[in-house]
Amino acid sequence: MGCGRAAIVAAHPDDETLGAGGILPRLREPIFIHVTDGAPRDMRDAAANGFGSREEYGQARRREFLEAMRAGGVRPAETVSLGYADQEASLHMAELTRDLLRLLRHTRPRLVLVHPYEGGHPDHDAAAFAVHAAWGLLPPALRPRIVEYTSYHNCGGAIETGTFLPAPVPEIRMPLGGAARERKERMLACFKTQQPVLQYFGTGGERFRAAPAYDFTAPPHSGRLFYEQFSWGMKEGEWTAQAEAARRALGWPYLRLAPGPAAPEEHSLVLGGAAAMRHGVSGRC
Ligand SMILES: [Zn+2]
Repeated sequence: MGCGRAAIVAAHPDDETLGAGGILPRLREPIFIHVTDGAPRDMRDAAANGFGSREEYGQARRREFLEAMRAGGVRPAETVSLGYADQEASLHMAELTRDLLRLLRHTRPRLVLVHPYEGGHPDHDAAAFAVHAAWGLLPPALRPRIVEYTSYHNCGGAIETGTFLPAPVPEIRMPLGGAARERKERMLACFKTQQPVLQYFGTGGERFRAAPAYDFTAPPHSGRLFYEQFSWGMKEGEWTAQAEAARRALGWPYLRLAPGPAAPEEHSLVLGGAAAMRHGVSGRC
C-alpha cells in the first residue's frame, strides 16, 4: 500500500488473519488494534487449552497473533490490545468507540479494515459499531475509508465463512494460490489454541468491500443470528439496545454518509489492484 497507513481492527486475535491474512504482508506500516484479549470469563476455552487463568489464556492468544505475523512476514507498525474480555465488547461500545477515536486521531490511518455487521459474534459487531461511530465523530478531514474483511454469519443454521451478507456495495474477491495460500496457512497454524474453529475457514481466497452504511439499531438480518445459538453473552435485542445506548452516550447523530461506489479506489489501495477480480453483490444468506 503506497498511499498511507492502514489500521486493522479485529475483535479477537486471529480475526485479522482469517479475514485478511493474504493481504497483510502487502500493507505498509499496518496498525493492529485488537478489541478483546480473546479470553472469555467463563474459562471454558482457557481450561480446554490447559490454562489456569483467563490472563494466561489471553497472553497465549496474543503470542499466537505475534507468531502469525512473523510467519507471514508482516511487520506491524503498532499492535494495540484494548483488553476487553472476550464476549464483553458489546457491553462497552461507547468506551470502545472513544478508545478508537483516540487511536485514529493519533495514528491517522488512511484506511481501517474491520468486520462487517452480520450477527456472527457480538464482539465482531461491536468492533464494527465502534469503527463506524468513531468515523462519524471524527472531523471529515481525519475520516479514514472503512473497508470490510469477511468473518462469519448464520446461513441456514450453519456457520458461513468467507462471504458477506448481501449489501448494495461491490466487493473484491482475491484468490490466494501457491505461495500466498501456503503463507496464510503457515500464519493460521500459529493459532494453536484455535485450531478446532479454524477448520471452518478456507484459505483459497479473500473478499473485501467498502463498508456499507448500517443501521445498528436493527438486526443485521432477519431470523436467528449466528451468536444466538451459543452462550456468548448476548442476544440480538440486547445487542441493539446496547448499540442505541452507546450511540446516545456518544452523541453520535447517525449521519454516516453511505460510502457510495468508491470501492475501486480504496480496494486498489488495499489490494494493489492487480490480483483482484471485481464482482458485484454476493452472499448466499
Ligand atoms: Zn472473532
